[in-house]
Amino acid sequence: MPEQTCSHIEAIESLKQPKAHECEECVKIGSNWLHLRTCQSCGGTRCCDSSPNRHASKHAKATGHPVVASAEPGERWLYCFPDEAFAEY
Ligand SMILES: [Zn+2]
Ligand SMILES: [Zn+2]
Ligand SMILES: [Zn+2]
Repeated sequence: MPEQTCSHIEAIESLKQPKAHECEECVKIGSNWLHLRTCQSCGGTRCCDSSPNRHASKHAKATGHPVVASAEPGERWLYCFPDEAFAEY
């Protein structure tokens, strides 16, 4: 994947880690998910765009929180929804 960072990603100094390894919104509605992303603005963990409910993406649109980090073990990258920017760390 090409590396194309943005000002949102560059502004992140300390990474927010997932509080629990689950999508907080899927848990509420009893749905399931594929992969998890942690919002770097509020620290909430939600499901990825390959999951049926795409909660991380919906959260970014609804709140304007731009950047998520992968919450998958062994994955070390950040993604900015509005800029479609990506960076490994
Ligand atoms: Zn950005
Ligand atoms: Zn979800
Ligand atoms: Zn958020």
